[in-house]
Amino acid sequence: MAEEKNYETVIIGAGPAGMTAALYASRAGLRTVMIDGTAPGGKLLKTYMVDNYPGVPSISGPDLAMQMYEQSVSFGAEFMFGEVESVNKNRQVVLKDGTILNAGSVIIATGAKERLLGIEGEQEAIGHGESFCAVCDAAFFRNKEVVVIGGGNSALEEAQFLTRFASRVTIIIRRDVFRASEKAQREVLENDKIEVIRHAVPKKILMEDGKVTGLVIHDLEDDLDSTIKCDGIFPFIGQIPETEFVKDLGILNDKGYIEADRRMRTAVPGILACGDAIDKDLRQIVTACGDGATAADEAFHFVTDL
Ligand SMILES: Cc1cc2nc3c(=O)[nH]c(=O)nc-3n(C[C@H](O)[C@H](O)[C@H](O)COP(=O)(O)OP(=O)(O)OC[C@H]3O[C@@H](n4cnc5c(N)ncnc54)[C@H](O)[C@@H]3O)c2cc1C
Repeated sequence: MAEEKNYETVIIGAGPAGMTAALYASRAGLRTVMIDGTAPGGKLLKTYMVDNYPGVPSISGPDLAMQMYEQSVSFGAEFMFGEVESVNKNRQVVLKDGTILNAGSVIIATGAKERLLGIEGEQEAIGHGESFCAVCDAAFFRNKEVVVIGGGNSALEEAQFLTRFASRVTIIIRRDVFRASEKAQREVLENDKIEVIRHAVPKKILMEDGKVTGLVIHDLEDDLDSTIKCDGIFPFIGQIPETEFVKDLGILNDKGYIEADRRMRTAVPGILACGDAIDKDLRQIVTACGDGATAADEAFHFVTDL
């Protein structure tokens, strides 16, 4: 017999958006649970340094995650380990282990996962040299050569971090210019361990004895292929929303992001969404937290009106 529990607010995802929602909802007096399939923190756990969260000049991602988590449960919100399999229009949240949570309101804060390169050799390479988390895996590449793919803030900041361990970091970008802050660009260009290859895209990952040994890249200007010898590959080329489990609710746009209004309401009454999983312009910690606060405030009004 599946276990069944009742809450006034069920928050799915314990990244910055979910943790902020938990803080606001529990502080408003709602019986709140926050569920995550992994340790609380979301993408903060994969971030080397955060220096754009107001009031906290410079902090490691995992440290910020820990501080946010402790604050988020300090007003009585519960944390539950578990992966959510589905949510229905009656606000029943079903976990993979069969647990059913009956919710007054549901806040979806499941963020987004990393986009794969989609090239030959990738499936075999994941976990055997290809990684999406420099903070987690950089130490495996001490005195080795690695490639970072992407030209945004995440790519540049993680490349910078990788130079603490790797002997050489090559950044591959499709265009001529980066899409990152001036500071991140300056640090990368001033770092002797980093080389930048422009106008190129990855084509094939090479492996020997179950380990990555190189990356074939295609030069878009001269239409030629070449091989970079490397032990590790770190793609930072964007994200895919983690919203598959609510695909039947009719709340997703054509890219899979949740459509939410400025009160974080979806088309289904009592089901709210916040953070990187929603359709919005700026996916950052501070905006995720702002969304989480609004979602919890809306959840409070929805539950008290019920
Ligand atoms: C490498 C990197 C560096 C970054 N650096 C910065 C930075 O310096 N400054 C900044 O402002 N932003 C940065 N960002 C972006 C920032 O981390 C995100 O915008 C932010 O974490 C989004 O928060 P979120 O709570 O919406 O989602 P997430 O942080 O992605 O958290 C979502 C959580 O939901 C959980 N989840 C997903 N599906 C389920 C499910 N079905 N059941 C249960 N749990 C589920 C996940 O396990 C995860 O813990 C960076 C991102 C990356 C990848």
